[in-house]
Amino acid sequence: MTTPVQPGNFIEGIIMEDLKSGKHKRVVTRFPPEPNGYLHIGHAKSVCLNFGLAEKFNGTCHLRFDDTDPEKEEIEYVEAIKRDVKWLGFDWGENLYHAADYFEQLYEYAIELIENGKAYVDDLSAEEIREYRGTLTEPGQDSPYRNRSVEENLDLFRRMRAGEFPDGSRVLRAKIDMASPNMNMRDPVLYRIKRASHYRTGDEWCIYPMYDFTHPISDALEGITHSICTLEFEDHRPLYDWVLENVSVPCQPQQIEFARLNFSYTITSKRKLLQLVERGYVTGWDDPRVPTIAGVRRRGYTPEAIRDLCERVGVAKKNSLVDMAMLEHCVREDLNRRAPRAMGVLRPLRVVIENYPEGQVEELEAVNNPEDPSMGTRKVPFSRVIYIEQEDFMEDPPKRYRRLAPGREVRLRYGYVIKCEDVIKDGEGNIVELHCTYDPETLGGSTPDGRKVRGIIHWVSAAHAIQAEVRLYDRLFTLENPAEVEDFFEYVNPNSLEVLTECKVEPSLAAAAPGSFYQFERQGYFCVDIVDSKPGNLVFNRTVALRDTWAKIQRRQG
Ligand code: ATP
Ligand code: MG
Repeated sequence: MTTPVQPGNFIEGIIMEDLKSGKHKRVVTRFPPEPNGYLHIGHAKSVCLNFGLAEKFNGTCHLRFDDTDPEKEEIEYVEAIKRDVKWLGFDWGENLYHAADYFEQLYEYAIELIENGKAYVDDLSAEEIREYRGTLTEPGQDSPYRNRSVEENLDLFRRMRAGEFPDGSRVLRAKIDMASPNMNMRDPVLYRIKRASHYRTGDEWCIYPMYDFTHPISDALEGITHSICTLEFEDHRPLYDWVLENVSVPCQPQQIEFARLNFSYTITSKRKLLQLVERGYVTGWDDPRVPTIAGVRRRGYTPEAIRDLCERVGVAKKNSLVDMAMLEHCVREDLNRRAPRAMGVLRPLRVVIENYPEGQVEELEAVNNPEDPSMGTRKVPFSRVIYIEQEDFMEDPPKRYRRLAPGREVRLRYGYVIKCEDVIKDGEGNIVELHCTYDPETLGGSTPDGRKVRGIIHWVSAAHAIQAEVRLYDRLFTLENPAEVEDFFEYVNPNSLEVLTECKVEPSLAAAAPGSFYQFERQGYFCVDIVDSKPGNLVFNRTVALRDTWAKIQRRQG
């Protein structure tokens, strides 16, 4: 990639200035997830931005696990995050880091702060610290332990590390300003005592550094030039800078904030997604309804589509809700170009073509992708009994109905025109079968007498059909912004999953590999489920239906 001449967004603008002025020679960014859950599609924005900037400016991007909270972090999440970043198409190369690997250095920097009178051990309880902190309108009060001597602080902090004190009995705090209008600057806690096994350091530590202390130092130790984070950290920036100014780190990274990417009708918060998983509202982190990277991958979204979306959304300074339909639009655009077409009948209705010879099979030629002739053609078998979609027949249709009805004609995709002669019902009056005739002169799209047959429907030969399960998905929440309400569980869509077990797909799909994707003509894009699909027991997920609501919204807005 060539270095851009024009900044594509305000962050690129800052970087270009820094390179021009000589402040930096090389750009180093990082993506710093906490391994306390799976990555979601909001994280994809940060991944694309950080790795994308490094690519654009010939720099590097680190993958760093921000792992300072042992109780919530797990190796399973570390592995999942690595898998997801790779799947999105990015590579950290040698640059894999863990904040936990800096625990010893962080401890030394804390000692340095204490020695310089910039940090102290506080014996107040968490409750008292909160009370002393003041409010947005009132200044805080100094802790009675704030003026301990350097020697006493050093001694106490060493003994905190040595495990002499119970959990929560003491903390190390920065000595900044209890009257600061910025609450984050009112002597923030830097270390707490917590006897918890860390997935990486085991029981080596019983004190753990806080995020606001760990993050700037980790950035500096890795030589990060631009530390890009989301807007909620804007108020933490003075503390980020304070830490870097008051310890002897090798460099001074710059924190830059941008808006989070959030989507309508879903949730992008690891904590809340974990609750959905734990309470069984979904089958797991990779449930295709969940907006995790693992979930949308299983659903059939492509990394190309997600990267495209992140590019289109751009880099904003104000939080907003992105319409899910926009992401679906990107998915459709990508799959339209690449997905082979196939015929699959979701809710089958048996059709017997009475004048077609029994035992005869014709191989009809079908186009694999009209968008891409290089994908060629395939043969689809046609015979006397076929399945069509139940909704492609109406006993008593309105005038403009273009599909099958008693006495009416319709064209079978890639095949003949058929006419409905008879409707067979069971004892309860349900339609179970249609009897039709076909016109042998109608192959290849024409009719011998030039009569017009407008409707074209998809079908599958019954004798050759492969039985499949198809899972249809709807939005996970019934509320546009479930993140806004505390009891978001109440708004989980009870109809977010519909399972169809009697589907019939064309025989070319018999060996469809897990993860492969198709457009079932007229039904949408589908992928073979990577977890549950087995040879002989095919399971498809509908990735997205064909109707593009986003394109429609765009057209309406002119
Ligand atoms: P969550 O609330 O889901 O746990 P988080 O911000 O706590 O999100 P981290 O693991 O700390 O999750 O995030 C790693 C990086 O991804 C951070 O730099 C964070 O700012 C960024 N990030 C998280 N959520 C979003 C989002 N919705 N849009 C853009 N960036 C995000
Ligand atoms: Mg976080």
